[in-house]
Order: sequence, then structure tokens, then C-alpha cells
Amino acid sequence: MRGVLFDGRRAEVVDDLEVRDPGPGEVLVSVAAAGLCHSDLSVVDGTIPFPVPVVLGHEGAGVVEAVGVGVTHVVRGDHVALSTLANCGTCADCDRGRPTMCRRAIGRPGRPFRRGGRPVFQFAANSAFAERTVVKAVQVVPVPKDIPLPCAALIGCGVLTGVGAVLNRARVDRGDRVVVIGTGGVGLNVVQGARIAGALRIVAVDAHPAKEEAARRFGATDFLTSVDGVRELLPDGADHVFECVGRVELIRAAVDLLDRHGQAVLLGVPPATAEASFLVSSMYLDKAILGCRYGSSRPQRDIALYADLYRTGRLLLDELVTRTYPVEDFARAAADAEAGKVARGVLTF
Ligand SMILES: [Zn+2]
Ligand SMILES: [Zn+2]
Repeated sequence: MRGVLFDGRRAEVVDDLEVRDPGPGEVLVSVAAAGLCHSDLSVVDGTIPFPVPVVLGHEGAGVVEAVGVGVTHVVRGDHVALSTLANCGTCADCDRGRPTMCRRAIGRPGRPFRRGGRPVFQFAANSAFAERTVVKAVQVVPVPKDIPLPCAALIGCGVLTGVGAVLNRARVDRGDRVVVIGTGGVGLNVVQGARIAGALRIVAVDAHPAKEEAARRFGATDFLTSVDGVRELLPDGADHVFECVGRVELIRAAVDLLDRHGQAVLLGVPPATAEASFLVSSMYLDKAILGCRYGSSRPQRDIALYADLYRTGRLLLDELVTRTYPVEDFARAAADAEAGKVARGVLTF
């Protein structure tokens, strides 16, 4: 079967991958569509170290092809969105509703694929850039069949991360003033999460003026090309500033734009050794800096909620899919994503 393989030097489309049958508690999914997220490109450029060879992709949706022993919540033929969170479901963190903190979910990449007789790693417990993949049952969330699968695919990373950061981590409240720095795939989801939460002002900041139209469609009340103008719009500062770019000077700007009791939420991913600074005295006014992993999500609950919000017109998904590419055109999809031409490019199988 076809898939996008990274061998440590380059990522390319290959057609001689194999995937094993699902074991107990696993599901074999025929992938229909998979979004190209910056984290996939970060593996290729080394920002995210990962063992190779590896099949990329971590934001997918498709159709259940087979279930392993003990899987009862989906059956063959169900449409599903995939989460990357292979949490165990039984540890103390999982039990208290914090599956993103499950220690048994991180740092143990499986190798369900083979190529030329050799095992191939699975990226983010997911590898959605393959015609078929095997994932844990907890990662498979049924979605209604009237949701186009290219839209459902985006729920699994960009939407869970962006909307989840707003609703689960920051807990934006109605009437709040929100600033969103960077309006790529995650940033647009932060913008629409803030709209869904009832924020009064949503100031989107992006260096590319061409991003204004999309930002406003998703819910931004204001658009700026630099953080320098935010104080003119919000003289007292913001209740929540989301940094979605991953640059230390923008993290500093996020902290400096907070009103009393405000919080800066860090979603961008700078290099692993990056350090940021801030004035300690500025934090005395009950301010906070929050990290956020994967939207602090509970995928079985949140993906179902986001699917319903989409069906009632409140969560925009079609508008996120800037362009679809057959998987053979991975190189062009990657180039367009690097150039910032697309909110989300989606590979189809
Ligand atoms: Zn992602
Ligand atoms: Zn766990």
C-alpha cells in the first residue's frame, strides 16, 4: 500500500508498505483523508526528533476495516476520526480525565508497518499518511457519516489542539478579551473556539495581511499584522493571549499584553532548547503562563462535541480545508504548507 515515509533524510511517497492485522484492543482503519500539520514537517526538519524509518501523518479520518478482540465501540464500516492520543485508559491520570497526561502514552512508538521485510515506526501513534493504519481503540472516535472525511480528519489535531486550548485549558468565558498570535491551522481554531466560548473581543494577529479574511470568517473581531497595535485596541490588555507561532519574542509579547489576572497560553513550538524571558514583577498581578498539550483534550468526548458543533454550523471545518491533494502530491502539499499558502492542506487516498 501507499504511504509517506521519512527515512531520516527525505520524506517520499512509497507504494510497498504493509501493515499488520489489529491485535486485541486495536482497530484497523482505512484512511480516507489526512491533514498535513506542521508537526509532520517538524519531524522532517528535525525539530521533533523521531526514530526512522517512520510513516508520517497524525490528523486523519477514515473507515473502520477490522477490529481486534475486545473492541466494541466501533464496527467495520463506521466512519471515524483518529486522535493521536494512545492513552492507556487505566492509569490515575486517565481515570481523573486527563488522558493527555497519561505517561504510558508517550515515548513508546510502535512499529505496525513493514517495508522490504523491515519494521517501520508509527508517528504519533497514528501514521495517517498511509492507506491503512492500526491504532488503539481509545484513538478511534465514531463520527456521523454526513461529515465529509476530509473535514473530520482535521478534528484529530488542529481542532482538538486549538479549540481544546480555549475550552479546556484557558476556559475562556463569555465577554473575555482574547488575542490570538498566528492564524495558521491551530490559530484559526483558537479564534473559532473563542467565538464559541462567547469572547467579546477576538484580536487576531498575523504578519500576512492575506490571512485577515479567514481570521474574520472564523470569528476575529479585529485583525492586526503586528502585536504592536494590540494596546490601541485593548488599552488594559487581554484576558487570554494565545501564542500559536512558537517564537520567543512573541511569547514575551504575549506575556506583556496580559491584563491583571490574564493568562498567556503557549501553543507554538519553538526549538526544544529555546528559552524565553519575562519581567517577574509583571506576574505579581495574578498572571499566568500556561503550557497546553493537545488541547488538554478528552478525545472521545471532545471529537463527538466538535462533530456536533460542525453539524449545527458553529464549528467551521470546510473552510479550514484550503486544498486537497492526492497522496502522490505530498511534496507539493508540503511546499505549500511551508510557504504558508494554506490553512490546512489535506491528503486524500
Ligand atoms: Zn498536528
Ligand atoms: Zn493512562
